[in-house]
Amino acid sequence: MRLDHTHDAAAKSWVESANQPECAFPIQNLPFSVFRRAGTSEAFRGGVALGDYVIDLKAIAALGDLSESAAQAVLACTAPTLNAFLALGPHAWRALRHALFAWFSKGEAQAHIDELEGCLVPQANAEYALPVQIGDYTDFYTSIDHARNIVKLLRPDGSISPNFQWMPIAYHGRVSSIGLSGQPVRRPVGQRVAAGKREPELGPCARLDYELELGIFIGVGNEQGARIPVESAEAHVFGLCLLNDWSARDIQSWESAPLGPFLAKNFATTISPWIVTMDALAPFRTAWVRPEGDPQPLEYLALQETDDRAFDIQLEVAIETADARRSGRCASRVSRTSFRHQYWSIAQMVAHHTIGGCNLRPGDLLGSGTISGPTSSEAGALIELSRAGESPVELAGGETRAFLEDGDVVVMRGWCERPGFVSIGFGENCGEIIPAKWE
Ligand code: MN
Repeated sequence: MRLDHTHDAAAKSWVESANQPECAFPIQNLPFSVFRRAGTSEAFRGGVALGDYVIDLKAIAALGDLSESAAQAVLACTAPTLNAFLALGPHAWRALRHALFAWFSKGEAQAHIDELEGCLVPQANAEYALPVQIGDYTDFYTSIDHARNIVKLLRPDGSISPNFQWMPIAYHGRVSSIGLSGQPVRRPVGQRVAAGKREPELGPCARLDYELELGIFIGVGNEQGARIPVESAEAHVFGLCLLNDWSARDIQSWESAPLGPFLAKNFATTISPWIVTMDALAPFRTAWVRPEGDPQPLEYLALQETDDRAFDIQLEVAIETADARRSGRCASRVSRTSFRHQYWSIAQMVAHHTIGGCNLRPGDLLGSGTISGPTSSEAGALIELSRAGESPVELAGGETRAFLEDGDVVVMRGWCERPGFVSIGFGENCGEIIPAKWE
């Protein structure tokens, strides 16, 4: 997918809120969610964000008057999850994008603008559900800056594991506890070993952290035993959302050897409601580079150098404490980075996931791994920012945080900007820490 008329910076919508400069959802974006009118018992169905509105795809389907592939696509979006739509593949996704762009952009004669207005629901009146029924969830570990930061903290004499530069490392995660932005996150209880002690105790996590990640939704899957080649891997990806991989660092450090994260990660993962499509992200591609002197990828992971396989997605994390809320202070931004620094690309994650014969299915979710950039203010987790708690992060109003406290709201934001193009946003991904159930 490369650029087409739907990326034209001159294009405007007759939905005026979509044309505001700060708007996350201009006509060039058109991200997908599952929604209904808040406080009703309506069935959840597919929606597309435009300005301050959700385009109700069930209402669009009822209008008819679509090309065959767009009609098939919009019909799939009337279901309470987007799995059937994701399974249709890039041709159908693009047909629907082009149809919505034609109907909601300004300029051409709007034959049935009254009918289309009837398909708009204000976002202020909408509530969301998980956009797809997620079958499997895999969390990667693909930022070399994150890996280096963690090694420095935990093993000052050590270096990153030798496999890191040869493959996108991952573990299989938990689906049942994946929730949507806005849902509270309960502090987990688990085994942890206090400083200076040799034996664990059971208790509430004392080193609760977030991980700034992107969620990658698989569209078209593969048959078991049939690998997805790296060159065509992106055609299997529908789009991206913001993802917070909540992490209990004290539980993690005790339980992780030899089999990796378990209870430290499986209590909660939070994703944002909107999936920004790969088509919408096309203008924000950038070169994927492997530094000279580093091992070059094995052939099944090798990308053509001229290919724009990295994505320049701006990301930031802010913490709003309970005290800040009471005092009317803004959330404090604690980091800001870009996804373009990631050591492994999305295409390589997909190709590697299937190289042994593993089958991916429509609606499977991959976590990108913590996204940390090269400088210290670009770290995507508190454990890095606070140097494992040694130097707490300063927040507005004189507060500090080594790790998260009850009442803290972690806010993640993502957007893309590039001269000559209209900026697009992911919206927000928020979660408030609530106290552990304990004693
Ligand atoms: Mn993670």
